[in-house]
Amino acid sequence: VKKLAKKASQGASDIKEAAVLGAGIMGGGIAYQAASKGLPIIMKDIKSEQLELGMNEASKLLGKEVERGKLTPAKMGETLSRIRPTLNYGDFGNTDIVIEAVVENPAVKKSVLAEVEALAKDDAIIASNTSTISITELATALKRPENFVGMHFFNPVHRMPLVEVIRGEKSSDAAIATTVALAQKMGKVPVVVNDCPGFLVNRVLFPYFGAFDLLVKEGVDFAAIDKTMEKFGWPMGPAYLIDVVGLDTGVHGAAVMAQGFPDRMKPDFKGSIEHLFEQNRLGQKNGAGFYKYE
Ligand code: NAD
Repeated sequence: VKKLAKKASQGASDIKEAAVLGAGIMGGGIAYQAASKGLPIIMKDIKSEQLELGMNEASKLLGKEVERGKLTPAKMGETLSRIRPTLNYGDFGNTDIVIEAVVENPAVKKSVLAEVEALAKDDAIIASNTSTISITELATALKRPENFVGMHFFNPVHRMPLVEVIRGEKSSDAAIATTVALAQKMGKVPVVVNDCPGFLVNRVLFPYFGAFDLLVKEGVDFAAIDKTMEKFGWPMGPAYLIDVVGLDTGVHGAAVMAQGFPDRMKPDFKGSIEHLFEQNRLGQKNGAGFYKYE
C-alpha cells in the first residue's frame, strides 16, 4: 500500500495539465472541479453552446462561493482562467491526462478515444467517465490500452465525494496510481474497482431505476414514489434523480446493463423512462423530464 501511495503521489505531481472531452453535465463539472483545485484544464466539445453552458455553470458555482465570502473575485477570475474552452484539439499534445465525458454510446466513445489518442503524447493517460460501459471493451479502440482507465465521477461533480477508478484488463498500475492521485488532488475519494458493465455503484443504482420504472408502468404515481423514498430517508427519490442524471444517459446506460446482465436487468427502461425519453424529455438538462424545470 505504501509503495502504491508513493507511486500515486509522484503521479499526481506529474499531472500539470488536463483535458476533458465533452462540456455537458459531467464534463463541465469536471472542468470546474479541476480548476478549483489549481489544475489547468482544456474543455473540448463539438458544440459552442455546450461550451458556453459549461463556462456559465462554473461561473455560477464560483459566484456563489464569492457571495459566501469563501473566495475573492480575483481568485474567481483566476480559477475561471484555468478552464480553456475549445472546439478543436489545438494543444492536446501537452496534456498529461484526457478525461472523456461525451455521450454514453460505445461507438461514439470508441471513435473519440481513438481520435484523441492519436493527438495526445505517448505517455498521456486517457480516462473515460463512462457510467456503464466496460473499460476493457472501450480499450479495444486504443493502441496503448495500458494508459487507459475509468475515472467515474458522480453528479453533481462538485458535491459528490466518490470517484470510481476502474482497472481495465490492460490498465497499468502506474496509470491507476496516477488517476487515484489525481482524484485525491481534485478533493475526491477514489475507490479502485474492477471492470464490468456499471462497475460498482451503477450495478446497484440501475436495478433500482429499473424497479422504479416498472412500478410507474404498473400505474403508481412517480411523485408519490419520490415522496415515499424521501420519507424513507433518501435525499431524493428516483424520478428526481433520473431527471438530474439525464433520461438519455439513463436509457443508454440501461441498454448496456441489460446486455451485460441479461439475467438481472431484463426490462431495461421500457416503461416510463424510455417513454419520456422518446418525447425528448431529457430531465433538468433540457427543462423537462418527470418534472418540469424553469
Ligand atoms: P451530456 O449530454 O450532458 O453531455 C455530453 C456532451 O458531450 C455534450 O456537450 C455533447 O455536445 C458532447 N459531445 C458529444 N460528442 C462529442 C465529441 N465527439 N467530442 C466532444 N464532445 C462531444 O452528458 P453527461 O451527463 O455529461 O454524460 C457524459 C458522460 O458521463 C456519459 O458517459 C455518462 O454516462 C457519464 N456520466 C453521467 C452522469 C450523470 O449523472 N449525468 C454521472 C456519471 C457519469
